[in-house]
Amino acid sequence: CTCVVAAAGAGGDDAKYKDPTQPLNARIDDLLARMTLAEKIGQMSQIEREKATPDVISNYFIGSVLSGGGSVPAANAPPEAWAKMVNGMQSGALSTRLGIPVLYGIDAVHGHGNAYKATIFPHNVGLGCTRDPELVKRIGAAVAVEVRATGIPYIFAPCVAVCRDPRWGRCYESFGEHPELVRSMTSIVSGFQGEIPAGGRKGAPFVAGRRNVAACAKHYVGDGGTAGGINANDTAATFHELLAVHMPPYYNAVIRGVSTVMVSYSSWNGAKMHADHFLITDFLKKRLRFRGFVISDYQGLDFITTPEHADYLLSIKLGILAGIDMVMIPFNYTEFIDGLTLLVQNGTVPMSRIDDAVRRILRVKFTMGLFENPYADPSLAGELGKQEHRDLAREAVRKSLVLLKNGKPGDKPLLPLPKKAHGSILVAGSHADDLGSQCGGWTITWQGFTGNNLTAGTTILDGIRRAVGPAGTDVVYAETPDAGFVRENEARFDYAVVVVGEPPYAETAGDNANLTIPAPGQAIIRNVCGSIRCVVVLVSGRPLVVEPYLGAVDVLVAAWLPGTEGQGVADVLFGDYGFTGKLSRTWFRSVEQLPMNAGDAHYDPLFPFGFGLGTQPSKY
Ligand code: BGC
Repeated sequence: CTCVVAAAGAGGDDAKYKDPTQPLNARIDDLLARMTLAEKIGQMSQIEREKATPDVISNYFIGSVLSGGGSVPAANAPPEAWAKMVNGMQSGALSTRLGIPVLYGIDAVHGHGNAYKATIFPHNVGLGCTRDPELVKRIGAAVAVEVRATGIPYIFAPCVAVCRDPRWGRCYESFGEHPELVRSMTSIVSGFQGEIPAGGRKGAPFVAGRRNVAACAKHYVGDGGTAGGINANDTAATFHELLAVHMPPYYNAVIRGVSTVMVSYSSWNGAKMHADHFLITDFLKKRLRFRGFVISDYQGLDFITTPEHADYLLSIKLGILAGIDMVMIPFNYTEFIDGLTLLVQNGTVPMSRIDDAVRRILRVKFTMGLFENPYADPSLAGELGKQEHRDLAREAVRKSLVLLKNGKPGDKPLLPLPKKAHGSILVAGSHADDLGSQCGGWTITWQGFTGNNLTAGTTILDGIRRAVGPAGTDVVYAETPDAGFVRENEARFDYAVVVVGEPPYAETAGDNANLTIPAPGQAIIRNVCGSIRCVVVLVSGRPLVVEPYLGAVDVLVAAWLPGTEGQGVADVLFGDYGFTGKLSRTWFRSVEQLPMNAGDAHYDPLFPFGFGLGTQPSKY
């Protein structure tokens, strides 16, 4: 009976596990030996913050809480409001018999996207184009301290998907199509968590200190290889292909001490990843010697048996036996807790499996210092959205932009653009003045937002105005110039900058089989580029079909989803800095070619993987 052990095991202040001078394993062993089954299963449970009152946390011994998608304390909440919320939950956890701190996790996939006024960095597709792992590591460190400023110690990032098909709605969360490129970008893990000191143990979870967060490599494995680019679909691949294409980023993330790995909604050759004992336990935990914890995706267990044969108990059994340690059960946590308790009591799930899961969770909590420092550090409040981070994001924008065309055949290159115009310059397209579209999904809300109201930053239009203002150049902005406007005004303009692209989206909502430029953008390109020399800046999470317009445009720039620092776009357009970005993805001609990746037998791209024209910074 666990109750006897429990009664004897309450941790007084002198308990070994509370003593930070004790060796890590001694602390884990000591605490584990004191825990009841209920306390252990509680540790394995991660619930949505709306459910996570201090009472729920203490009554069910909840181990972790999340802000799924875009759930925020309140619109425009300052860092102090976040910290207060997380601290409240923490006091619930610390009030329990053993006082195990709760681990709060959030999707900070391109900056602290849920927090008002945070610095939003380019989404990963753009970071891949920088080919600069060191820059990406610095970004990781900046994101970590912004997240910590709100009292949150854990993030569901990086996404290390190797996106093989841009029709996938999450392709922008991927650093690129090539396994080696994505692997090089796992440097971000060392930015988030800090660098393992020389002589430190590789593969063990590691978080350096209070300016760092525990990271999560996701989604294990093959999320970027699903058929048709359909989210959470099946990835058909031999084991060899899986190892060669989708696994490499995990090797490096584990060596860098990534604390957690999230399982993918997708299947491998028809079998759900969430139930894959071979890949989770035999390969990740045993072969790669990953010693952090494995977390399910949001309601990920449910999908093991639904919608085909809804059987939640079977789902719990398959997922836990496959090796999942922490379960993201946003809402139905009592069902999960009761179900897993039953499965342990009737011998279906051995206690050794529960102990392995809890050990891993405690290992992460102990190594990151959560027992010693469970509460938000108020001295970090000024870190959120600070200028130094915005400068870093602006640098990332400059380095992520890819110049695809610079001048029509026989013409002189148009870039860098002169800041001083004879007449005016026209800036056109809704994406020129739309912070939300510039940031894309996972910003303030899960699906992202359109417009400039929800957070702080600089639009591409603001950036252009600031760049040419000192030269006295007049900027005319027309959101949707029609053919009549262009006819009446064309003589006024030296050139036009047309900024068009995709609306924000996230996950399945972004799956798209056509990948055309949304219609209003196509019309603007047609109306403007026929008559005025034009620079087209595409704001999108992936390559779109551009071949039909390519002849008409003078300059084509892929800006991806650059985030809050739109000034970085002007920096390279006007030659304060040169263009250096290289495509992280193959730019296809038509969707019929997809999937098409570098190295394929029938490779006939419009612009190949790695393509990108350079410019020199101009003299003025
Ligand atoms: C996504 C994950 C995310 C989780 C929590 C899921 O829908 O697939 O990437 O971390 O939600 O928000």
